[in-house]
Amino acid sequence: MVQFTKLRLSGFKSFVDPTELIIQQGMTGIVGPNGCGKSNLLEALRWVMGETSARLIRGSEMDDVIFAGTSKRPARNLAEVALVLDNSSRRAPVAFNDHVELEISRRIEREAGSAYRINGKDVRARDVQLLFADASVGSRSPALVGQGRISTIINAKPGDRRQILEEAAGISGLHSRRHEAELR
Ligand code: ATP
Ligand code: MG
Repeated sequence: MVQFTKLRLSGFKSFVDPTELIIQQGMTGIVGPNGCGKSNLLEALRWVMGETSARLIRGSEMDDVIFAGTSKRPARNLAEVALVLDNSSRRAPVAFNDHVELEISRRIEREAGSAYRINGKDVRARDVQLLFADASVGSRSPALVGQGRISTIINAKPGDRRQILEEAAGISGLHSRRHEAELR
């Protein structure tokens, strides 16, 4: 079981100022009026896990996650999200398993794309995506249930529903590695 412990945002969507969210064990609720940024927080989670589709985080291009400015504040050119994981159960990939705490971060600069780090070390998007896929979370996993998602699952074709079950079982990372190996 992967335990998220902190989510840090800066310049991401409406979270222009550095914001840190402590995530404790058990249930965490986020409440607030319409438009205060609740969905943006879920999207920050998806994004730091390596989401590649801007559409799935309500943008038309990835730069749309960067704070776009308001009448009172100028736009930013940089957004960063970091997610801290408790790895005391040692379920992280071997390369990172000597750390009790893992900090995964993603940063985007306007027109320059994204850069990922795990505990300060530059890594590929793929490394981050696989880390989360192996832990049965991940940007498109059933661990994140967005609005309308339940009816999508009910109405899905059997093949698509199987993919959802495989993600829940934590074997989608294996499938993805096999696919890569077959392409070589
Ligand atoms: P609801 O209760 O209606 O679902 P919510 O709390 O989920 O609302 P969000 O959808 O997370 O609210 O936040 C929407 C707000 O985020 C809007 O005010 C929108 O202008 C702002 N926003 C989104 N992207 C950016 C951006 N790149 N820069 C600045 N503000 C942004
Ligand atoms: Mg919302």
